[in-house]
Amino acid sequence: MILVTKEFTFDAAHYLTKYNGKCENPHGHTYKLQVTVAGELDAEDMVIDFAQLKMFVKDRVISKLDHNSLNELFENPSAEIIVMWIWEQLKDLDSVKEGASLHELKLWETATSFVTYRGKAMGK
Ligand SMILES: [Zn+2]
Repeated sequence: MILVTKEFTFDAAHYLTKYNGKCENPHGHTYKLQVTVAGELDAEDMVIDFAQLKMFVKDRVISKLDHNSLNELFENPSAEIIVMWIWEQLKDLDSVKEGASLHELKLWETATSFVTYRGKAMGK
């Protein structure tokens, strides 16, 4: 198995509704997202074409979040809630690339703060 990772960024505004402190006021972040795909080599010696992965993630996730107000999409847009939603958007990756599966997501809210998600099994 080989892991293939591509990085994305998007700008978005949010405020946290269940939080008392700095993040309860509207503000913006440049979020960084790492999408890691697992698979075996195909006939072209790739797990997935980086260009194909880029198109898939842009279409499913980045186009919906970039320059948006996250509170219009989520009741309480914490990094944890956002990364779980991103997983739902991307988990059928094998529909565009047979044999490839979503392995891990990392979402940075600031340069030093990020969450990691590997699907529901992680919490069990
Ligand atoms: Zn924030």
